[in-house]
Amino acid sequence: MSACPVVTTVEPLPVLGHDVRVPLVTGGEVTYAALDYAASAPALRRVWDDVAAYAPYYGSVHRGAGYLSQLSTDLFEGCRATVAGFLGCREGDQVVFTRSTTDSLNLLASVLPAGCRVFVFETEHHAALLPWRDAEVTYLDAPRSPAEAVETLERALADREPYGPALVCVTGASNVTGELWPVRELAAAAHAHGARIVLDAAQLAPHHPVDVAGWDVDWVAFSGHKLYAPFGAGVLAGQADWLREAEPYLAGGGASRRVARDAEGGVEVEWHDTVARHEAGSPNVIGAYAIAAACKALQETGFDRLVERERELIARVRAGLADVPGVRVLSLFGADAPRVGVLSFVVDGWNSSHFAAALSAEYGIGVRDGLFCAHPLVRVLLDGDRGAPGECGPSDGRSLNAIRVSFGAGTPDEHVERFVRAVRELVTEGA
Ligand code: PLP
Repeated sequence: MSACPVVTTVEPLPVLGHDVRVPLVTGGEVTYAALDYAASAPALRRVWDDVAAYAPYYGSVHRGAGYLSQLSTDLFEGCRATVAGFLGCREGDQVVFTRSTTDSLNLLASVLPAGCRVFVFETEHHAALLPWRDAEVTYLDAPRSPAEAVETLERALADREPYGPALVCVTGASNVTGELWPVRELAAAAHAHGARIVLDAAQLAPHHPVDVAGWDVDWVAFSGHKLYAPFGAGVLAGQADWLREAEPYLAGGGASRRVARDAEGGVEVEWHDTVARHEAGSPNVIGAYAIAAACKALQETGFDRLVERERELIARVRAGLADVPGVRVLSLFGADAPRVGVLSFVVDGWNSSHFAAALSAEYGIGVRDGLFCAHPLVRVLLDGDRGAPGECGPSDGRSLNAIRVSFGAGTPDEHVERFVRAVRELVTEGA
């Protein structure tokens, strides 16, 4: 391990929770090192302050004649434009507020045209792998390079032609390896074969600029709680046509423009053909407001600064783990592949859950262990095979799961330093 501590050239952004003190099993206490940003990132202090400043003015949206309802409606609708700008959307794209990425992708799955075929890599998070229950799905094997990803998709699309409507679903950055996927090239391949493409930006958007128009992706989905905006909202943004033509995701008030009894004694409904169509019920105004506040904060900071800082932290983690005996960093595209601040690894002789528990109990470090809602991918990374149906993993004692460390805009250098030191100490002293 290089002895020199991490020295980043860009300051972290202030976030909540990094001053929480936690007890150690060895006695004493330390400040909590939240290194699980990929699950839920801490709130940016600025997002929290923006929400607190708005809270007294909070009112029902689209449902009240009073001043605060009008104000809230204007602010809520304004959030769409902020998010559209953050994502680099095209004129005419819709920004639908949802609960999360999972909700966004399920919403998209619910509006697929009849007979739609879906193409998805087995490496996806379950939120992107599983929602396509009513479609004919082609699952693509894990590629071993970005170029192979594009070739695999192209071949799969070409082999199955002709087909009617088709959708490709890809991640921008893996929640397991942190590796960046070739979104622009995959979008070009999809469109060359007449398919649409949705980008799962849950892990990308907090770390990297998204460019819907420039990359030519049809839709993008992300979650507020991973983007430093912890108020239970998400986004699906993109092309209006499939959204406008489908039945509403949820039926209810807000989605309906006109409801009347019909001649047969039932009811007839005219649905909105705007974003309201898929936002039935009272919306999560604070959630949308927080997402927009986070988008503004990240944009104003500048992704060039955020990316640079994260690059330095990633390099430090990589260098710190590189010569620790028995530590294996998981990767599809190779050790030097560009990645966001997400990295998974296994340690020889250690059960990953015990290792993560030791990081917490002995060092006050919060990471995640498990299969990260990407079971097929983690199995490929750990075993090199996909296992027989129903099998949980290898039976020879090798790791069934992994440890994930993830960080972002708020991570202080000390957290990464402590993590690197902790891994080394646990491996050399604690095995
Ligand atoms: N996609 C990716 C790549 C993720 O990492 C996650 C969550 O970890 C999701 C989708 C689902 O996000 P959410 O749980 O906010 O719906």
